[in-house]
Amino acid sequence: MELIYDKSVRGRRATRLPPPVADASPNWPAELRRASPAPLPEVSEGEVVRHFTALSRLNFSVDTHFYPLGSCTMKYNPKAGEAAAGLPGFREAHPLWPQLRRGGLLTQGALQLLYETERLLSEIAGMAEFTLQPLAGAHGELTGAMIIAAYHRDRGNRKTHILIPDSAHGTNPASARLAGYEVVTVPSDENGVIDFEKFRRAVNEETAGVMMTCPNTLGLFETRVREISEIVRAVDGLFYYDGANLNALLGRFKPGEMGFDICHINLHKTFATPHGGGGPGAGPVGVVEKLRDYLPISRVRKRADGVYYLDYNAPKSIGYMAPFYGNFGVIVRAYAYMLLLGGEGLKEAGGQAVLNANYVQERLRARFAAVTQGRCMHECVFTGKPFAAKGVHTLDLAKALIDRGIHPPTVYFPLNVPEAIMIEPTETESRETLDRFVAAMLEIADLAERDPKALHDAPLTTPVGRLDEVEAAKRMDLRWKPAEETAAG
Ligand SMILES: *Cc1c(COP(=O)(O)O)cnc(C)c1O
Repeated sequence: MELIYDKSVRGRRATRLPPPVADASPNWPAELRRASPAPLPEVSEGEVVRHFTALSRLNFSVDTHFYPLGSCTMKYNPKAGEAAAGLPGFREAHPLWPQLRRGGLLTQGALQLLYETERLLSEIAGMAEFTLQPLAGAHGELTGAMIIAAYHRDRGNRKTHILIPDSAHGTNPASARLAGYEVVTVPSDENGVIDFEKFRRAVNEETAGVMMTCPNTLGLFETRVREISEIVRAVDGLFYYDGANLNALLGRFKPGEMGFDICHINLHKTFATPHGGGGPGAGPVGVVEKLRDYLPISRVRKRADGVYYLDYNAPKSIGYMAPFYGNFGVIVRAYAYMLLLGGEGLKEAGGQAVLNANYVQERLRARFAAVTQGRCMHECVFTGKPFAAKGVHTLDLAKALIDRGIHPPTVYFPLNVPEAIMIEPTETESRETLDRFVAAMLEIADLAERDPKALHDAPLTTPVGRLDEVEAAKRMDLRWKPAEETAAG
């Protein structure tokens, strides 16, 4: 790939700026002044536009490619959400603006939006109240784990550990540890759900809580949720619902009605915000009645006369988890998405997501080894183990998809599946797109049988092939250096 510096021609310009006004900085110390002009690329406007447009097209994105990244819910995000978040009243609002101002109610609209989003999420999840503050799913988990700790402190309970199934997302144990707990891992059984007997034996008086993802990371609905909740409750533990996979169950399942005490929802997965590359996201946390007092401050309230305000009066609160209201723009998009789809529409989205995943699972079952029997929820998991005998690994299959214009599924996760391939098509993909994906997967499977070597070099269509991923992360080299400097080392 040519850098923009490589295209530079001395004297070429996009625009001609007026000459600088005399010396605008007469008092700057001499050693801070440039002796020579900065070595900026000199290119025409057309070259700039083509250069950066071409670069942007090397990216895979939901707007350009099928993106079945399991566990991430990379659904297409309606542009209506962008339009809503871009409205000047939301876009330009500042959190330090007064809530109320003489002659006008400055941030009432923003507060109303927060209030109504909180109410909608509480209805969807069957919880008493939500905080919209957490900035990601993992941050929501930490908020939840801190609420668990606050609850036990308040009650004088001596609790030491949190139970987490081995199929859980890695952020679960990290969050529990940060909140001060030991993590006890519960194995899955041969069906891919929590091993109930082992779970029961692991619970004791020192169990602070249990964190469960449902449907779990294998795309399976945990079968014994109610019994598990009763066992946790019997030792005054709290039951945490990792709702990152709620997309599968929208409108059909309320964690609050199934015995869960706390849950987080990933707005950037289930409620349509573009994500990837680290954010921004939002991981609101809902709690049942008995945990309301521990929620972060502030909370948006509505007075009897209809005026919204921020309530800081919460002596048992765990405090601030983020500045102000969390990622407001993400919350606006989620609100717009919920109103756009409505209750029935959300339910239909969940159903379609499950249908799409099952369609892919059944069409691939003959050639790829499915990890579970029967139906899946919103994602399906295969193992590339049978190909390993031919010297072809899951990584090779994933890289070969890139050459076919498809973002690879999640690989090598969940950790309890060797050579895992985890596919989440989401509800926004058409039958035609799924068929194209299946055809690519089957073609790659044939190639793995006939000509395994061909897969070892993939991807061939990208500017760089396979990187040493550890080196690439640890010794990032992102800075352009002028030729002399590079030569000098
Ligand atoms: C994505 C995910 C998380 C973490 O959410 P982030 O927003 O990435 O921090 C937690 N649990 C599960 C099951 C997930 O899929």
